[in-house]
Amino acid sequence: MKSELRHRFRSVHGREPAVIARAPGRIEFIGNHTDYNGGTVLGAAIDRGVWVGVAPRVDGRRRFASAAMTEVVETGTDAPRPFAGKDAWANYPLGMIVSLAAAGVAIPAGFDFLAVSDLPPGAGLSSSAALELASGLACARLAGVEPPRGTLVRAARHAENHFVGVPCGILDQAVSGFGRRGHLVHIDCRGPDFMTVPLPPGTGFRIFNTHTRHALVDGLYAERHRECGEAARALGVALLADLDPAGLKARSRGLSEGLLRRASHVVGEISRVAACVAALRAGRIDDAGRLLTASHESSRTCFENSTPELDFLVEELARTPGVFGARLTGGGFGGAVMALVAEPFAPESAERVAAAYAERFGARPDVLAVSTADGASLETP
Ligand code: ADP
Ligand code: MG
Repeated sequence: MKSELRHRFRSVHGREPAVIARAPGRIEFIGNHTDYNGGTVLGAAIDRGVWVGVAPRVDGRRRFASAAMTEVVETGTDAPRPFAGKDAWANYPLGMIVSLAAAGVAIPAGFDFLAVSDLPPGAGLSSSAALELASGLACARLAGVEPPRGTLVRAARHAENHFVGVPCGILDQAVSGFGRRGHLVHIDCRGPDFMTVPLPPGTGFRIFNTHTRHALVDGLYAERHRECGEAARALGVALLADLDPAGLKARSRGLSEGLLRRASHVVGEISRVAACVAALRAGRIDDAGRLLTASHESSRTCFENSTPELDFLVEELARTPGVFGARLTGGGFGGAVMALVAEPFAPESAERVAAAYAERFGARPDVLAVSTADGASLETP
């Protein structure tokens, strides 16, 4: 990707990048809808991501380009304001600059910028966080600094929440920032606190992207968010993460059947994350895999954020040799299924699952092989 970045930079900006940074995409390993409930989640930084090159300009203009976009987005020296319409993608790097400035990292106005990416669009692999982290790291280098990871991660989330206007949690940015090859990133969303957990060697991932998306997905997320808050209030706690499964059981009398199912998913999921960390630390990969499949089952029956397409893939994968476990990854209501596999994983096995899906639903899912990778880094230009 680096040579492509250099090549594109030359053809768009007519010179060499002075700084290059990359940041990985991520998968949600386990911990579904736990973030806004104050819970924990495990993610993996992957070996695909976004690369950003920058070079300073003396005229104070910022010229944003991306290999994925046809036009250069330009701003003057005045205070940055969010773009609308087709230029809105530039809000990710521009928002990063605004958020870093608020965190005390002043980035000099005046640079040429270019992003290239090998993250497939719409696969839920968090290209937005990768773009933010790579942009922040590259632009801060122009100011001669490398901000602490925590600062970078928080600035990226702040940019996405307040400049781009997406109310995301900290998962995407934290995994892209704190990722480590051969490891998962564990996030306690309440701190937030971050740590890495080793993933046993000889494992990898396959992502099956269905390209389906529930028409009402945004409204459904908001509804789940509201239901979780309502359940917490009815249970007398500030956040569902304040309860463990026994605590939930003890307090659940009088809670409606529907809200109890939502709460059971979140509380159960948080305990599955903890069990998964213990299993991975002990090298019990089979147990970790079973927890993934149990997470999906809870999404299907309790949180009702799965779909027939996702269920079909998980069922097929669960009976495929070399698969430790599989689950929907991300918010649900469509999107992708992730499988934890033993490497090398037979291509025929992935093909069999994709073909069975195509026969049932009339369209093939994309299958992507990914492995863990390090978090955002500066690269030699
Ligand atoms: P995800 O983060 O799951 O990939 P989002 O909707 O959060 O999906 O972010 C996707 C948006 O991020 C795109 O619509 C675009 O605005 C921006 N983006 C991501 N990668 C690039 C890129 N390489 N070039 C320009 N914009 C990008
Ligand atoms: Mg995103």
